[in-house]
Order: sequence, then C-alpha cells, then structure tokens
Amino acid sequence: MKSFVYFVTALCVFALASCGGGGGGGSSDDSDMDGTSITTTSTTTTTLSSGTGSNAGTSRMEVVELGTGTSFTLPSDVISFVVSAFGEVSSFVGFAALTNPNGEDLFITGNYPLAAYDLALVAESYGNVLVPMVTDHAAMAGEWNFQYYQGTNDVKLTMRTGSTPTSSVLKIKPYLTGTQYSVSDVEGALAILKNIYEKAGLQVELDTVSVLSDSKFQAVSSDFNNIITSEMVSMGSADRINLFFIEDFSGEDAGTLGIAAGIPGSLGIASNRNGVLNSLEAHVLGGALDTQLLGETVAHEMGHFIGLFHPTEKNGVTFDPLADTAECSISMASSALAGPQPSDCIGFGGENLMFWQGDPSIDQTSLTSDQVHIINYSPVAK
Ligand SMILES: [Zn+2]
Repeated sequence: MKSFVYFVTALCVFALASCGGGGGGGSSDDSDMDGTSITTTSTTTTTLSSGTGSNAGTSRMEVVELGTGTSFTLPSDVISFVVSAFGEVSSFVGFAALTNPNGEDLFITGNYPLAAYDLALVAESYGNVLVPMVTDHAAMAGEWNFQYYQGTNDVKLTMRTGSTPTSSVLKIKPYLTGTQYSVSDVEGALAILKNIYEKAGLQVELDTVSVLSDSKFQAVSSDFNNIITSEMVSMGSADRINLFFIEDFSGEDAGTLGIAAGIPGSLGIASNRNGVLNSLEAHVLGGALDTQLLGETVAHEMGHFIGLFHPTEKNGVTFDPLADTAECSISMASSALAGPQPSDCIGFGGENLMFWQGDPSIDQTSLTSDQVHIINYSPVAK
C-alpha cells in the first residue's frame, strides 16, 4: 500500500508525530538537545557591508559570514533573517539563545507566546533560526546576540532588506534525475505549484529544469548528510528555492513522497540543506504519474523549506505556531492509531497545503493569511 505521508526534515522522517509543530514540538530533537553544552564566546559584531548582494529591486538578500562570532547588527530596512549554524556530521548543531535588540531572548518562553526553542532547527551538521517564523516575532533593527551548541564551527547570516513585502516573488530552480520521467512531467507539477502560490497572492518565477544525468542521483537517500544526497543538494543555486525531482528514494525510503532539508532550509546559502527532494515514482497511481498530487507535494515541501510547519501533526495534539491555521484534534480522527486524516478534517485544515498527510482525492491547496505572511517575509523571497 502506498503511503501518503509527507516527510518533513531529515530528523522527522521516522518520527513525524513528534516534530514539526509549535507549542512543544518544533523541528528540533529535544532529546538530543538536552545535555548538549552551550558555547558562549565573547561578542563580535560583524557589519553588514561585507555581504554580497544577490537580488536587486525592492528587496535584496545578502549572506554575511559570522564565523564563530556571536552577534550581528541589522539595518533599519530589515525584513527577515535566518542564522545558520554548520558543524560536524556527528554533532547536533544549532542555536540555544537568540536575543533581540530589546534584550529579549526569543528562546525563553514568556518573552513571546511561543519560544523560538520550539521553532529552532537542531540537526546533525546543521541548525538554524528564522525570524519571522511566527507573526509575533519581528526582525528588528539593531544588535542581536546568540549562543550556539558545541559542534558548531561556522555561522552565517542570511538577511533580506528593503520595503515591506506585499506580494513577494519566489524564485525556483528545478532539477530532474533518472531516466523514467521527462522534463514535461516536472513542468506539469510546477504549473500546479505555481497556481497554488499565485492563488495565495504570491508570485512564482520558474527557472528551466536542469537534468542531472549522473545515474548516482537517480534514487537517493532521504538523509541530507548522505554523501550522494549532500553532493546533489549542494549543487543547488544559492539564491533560489531548489526543487529536486528524483526518480525515487533509495532503500527503505522508496515510496516516500517528498522531504524538505529543514524548516526552513539554508535559505540563501548553497549547502546540503538548500533544497527539497520529491519522488516521481511515489506519485504513480494506477500506472500513471499523478501530476496534481506531485504538484501539491512539491508545493508542500517548499512550504517547509520556507518555514511552515504542519498545522496539525499525526498525533492530533501538536499544532503549528500560527494563530489562524485550523486545528484537527485526535478526537476528530476516525482512527486514533492512523491519526487525523484529511477526510476527517475538512473545514479543520484537511484542505490546507501543509496538512501532515496527503490525499490524492482531496484538493489540499489552501494557505492561511499567517502562512502567506511567513512566505511573503522569507529571506529567500524577493
Ligand atoms: Zn510535511
């Protein structure tokens, strides 16, 4: 039987119910975070003039190398930022504190309704924090300070500056692997994705599909630290949303619909976390590629990559941190074991693009205004 479970991040592959949600879930693995010592170094401020601009127009994105520093200063026209921590594959890497210019640590519950602790990505070799990831966090001007976990050996800041966004442009770079599917198959799914985002008032610009002909990329692991997966995703464009249409996942991951490299990914930085993987083979129903379902999967994984969680998780008790996304509790599930299904949750988020489970018989393309706000403000949007 085909599974329609979307995968969230590498950490969440085998534990969907325990990750991806706000209010206690988060994309981090709490059990691995506990007991990890925190590195605190002296304050080093890096000015932003050293960044390299990659966008022109009403907003621009730049990446600033912070090295092992612990602070950065944002200008008055900042829209959003993500700080990324890189480290050894054997280490869980990420942030433990992020203090805004008012002196409020976003990781301390009480400063905000939802602590950034619940939102921060902590994973092997990579972690990050995105602001805003909820509508009550703002990327304010001034000096920010942070602490990162031991094992982090490089920190980079991606920030977007410019005028307040209203209808941001999402620039997408698609890739195709394997020999079983064609560029037009991918283009069909991308047309579905474009419609979904444009219906929500966003703009989508699609680059041409690049074919990765090396057979080693035909079927790859869903582990972003796998050497081949890492090599492939690292080929993605730094300033684009990279969507990899692979023939299938390898090994026991075969049949998985898709997976994002993080919530969010390494926006603006070429790395093994700078994209999403989508399996073409997993979207074959009744002998034919289900382009609508593939388009919805890709749009869903792209939502994770930008910073959206599942409004409701499989457990029916963990929900995303956004105020206006409908929740579908476990009491609404026809089977508690299976968790709330899209068909159980019509009117309660089952139609949302980011619902935890896909259903080819249901149109799952809606986004709420809070979700659109997070996408609109994304550092990788323009
Ligand atoms: Zn998902």
